[in-house]
Amino acid sequence: MNPERIRILKPGKTKKGPVVYWMSRDQRTRDNWALLFSRALALEEDVPLIVLFCLTESFSGAGRRPYEFMLKGLLEVEEALASKGIPFFFLRGEPEKVIPVFVKKYGVSALLTDFSPLRIKMEWVKKIASKIELPFYEVDAHNIVPCWAASPKQEYAARTFRPRLHTLLPAFLEEFPKLEKQPEESGILENKVEKGITDSEPEESSLKGSGLKDSGIEALLPERIRDSSFSGDALFEAGHFRPGEKAGRKVLKTFLRERLDSYRLFHGDPTKAGLSDLSPYLHFGQLSAQRVALEVEKADVDEESKEVFLEELVVRRELSDNYCYYNPDYDNFNGFPAWAKQTLDTHRRDPRPYLYTLEEFEAAKTHDPLWNASQRELLEKGKMHGYMRMYWAKKILEWSRSPEQALEIAICLNDRYELDGRDPNGYVGIAWSIGGLHDRAWKEREVYGKVRYMNYEGCRRKFDVGAYIAKYAGDS
Ligand SMILES: Cc1cc2nc3c(=O)[nH]c(=O)nc-3n(C[C@H](O)[C@H](O)[C@H](O)COP(=O)(O)OP(=O)(O)OC[C@H]3O[C@@H](n4cnc5c(N)ncnc54)[C@H](O)[C@@H]3O)c2cc1C
Repeated sequence: MNPERIRILKPGKTKKGPVVYWMSRDQRTRDNWALLFSRALALEEDVPLIVLFCLTESFSGAGRRPYEFMLKGLLEVEEALASKGIPFFFLRGEPEKVIPVFVKKYGVSALLTDFSPLRIKMEWVKKIASKIELPFYEVDAHNIVPCWAASPKQEYAARTFRPRLHTLLPAFLEEFPKLEKQPEESGILENKVEKGITDSEPEESSLKGSGLKDSGIEALLPERIRDSSFSGDALFEAGHFRPGEKAGRKVLKTFLRERLDSYRLFHGDPTKAGLSDLSPYLHFGQLSAQRVALEVEKADVDEESKEVFLEELVVRRELSDNYCYYNPDYDNFNGFPAWAKQTLDTHRRDPRPYLYTLEEFEAAKTHDPLWNASQRELLEKGKMHGYMRMYWAKKILEWSRSPEQALEIAICLNDRYELDGRDPNGYVGIAWSIGGLHDRAWKEREVYGKVRYMNYEGCRRKFDVGAYIAKYAGDS
């Protein structure tokens, strides 16, 4: 593995005692650099490896469906790790509280985690590093080119980021080794796990149980989600996406076989099944973007389609991590480029043609059948088509009192209902639509100022608007 993928958060010598991989963003056992490095470190020190996951009560406003999708995926992780002799711990509570208790209790010798540029994970990592006295490593297992290696600063646009990334790709886009089985001696550890972490000591009360399979998904859900009064729950019914690593690989296989060849032609048309549908798996790390890129490169299909797809999967996706990592205001107005803030400020007092509340947007109750259809697609499938996401967010800007309110509404709905929400791609996609991020100034007009405008007529020129509306007609 390229060593630049690993960062030392806290130096030190690994002693005797288990190595722990705190799995967070990359919830898979195959093609996972963080897991592979953890296993290699444990092997080198001749100590066992434990994997743990820590579930918080509230993660950026996710609704029931994303939680279920994630937990079902983790059941598969537990099973796959067991087949490799690696114990899996499932903890509940705030990571900065429970993980330091865990490492003390189990005499852990080194801690590793996967990288995320989002505020919540960066803060957990910082707090944990300040509380523990053992080596602590971070591995970028999500990006092909590690975020810190791709660029030392916030990139202005895809055109400034693309050449850097293309130069660095050959050093990182390599095949993954297989995860080796943990030797039998780690049975000692299983005994330890069986004795378990008890509730008896007050500071450990949040460390409950080890093992998911006996609990059942419902019991694992945070209380807020189990409580049926949580807004929007009624809308979460049978999902369209099957969760987990195996399902993710199957979706990839189908895409390579049936849709990659024509991606260039159909990816911008929401009435066609032209996209890969990989974002839920990529978001939860159930599938590695590097695996997808490797398989796409090998595919014997239209070269231009491969190029267009890899631009999205690699350049656009990794540009999102770049923005969130280097800009702490990634989810608010201050993060927008200066020209966009200025133009949106100039147009603050422009009359809005329509004004809707969060609840009206959420229930798809606007005057515009096309917008309502996109919102219903999101509610029904847990994934809105990529082209419609742009129209959806831009209209929220047009029909809200202020850009700040528009941003808040778009993030709230995106994070609550998109299976792939709560992701750098989401914050960047919304900032691109509402705040001109990674874009340029366009012709000035009401409300939008110089931020790129989209309208119903433009959509009509691109695809069969009537067919899309009919597909998500709802009951109105
Ligand atoms: C307002 C708005 C909100 C968005 N919210 C999210 C979100 O919450 N989560 C999310 O993953 N994507 C988001 N996107 C980006 C994009 O729309 C989705 O990644 C894409 O629609 C996912 O479907 P797919 O995997 O079938 O796409 P495909 O077209 O098959 O793309 C394959 C992969 O490439 C990456 N990708 C594609 N388009 C983009 C893009 N514009 N920016 C960055 N990466 C991209 C994604 O990882 C995607 O899974 C948003 C875009 C906008 C405009």
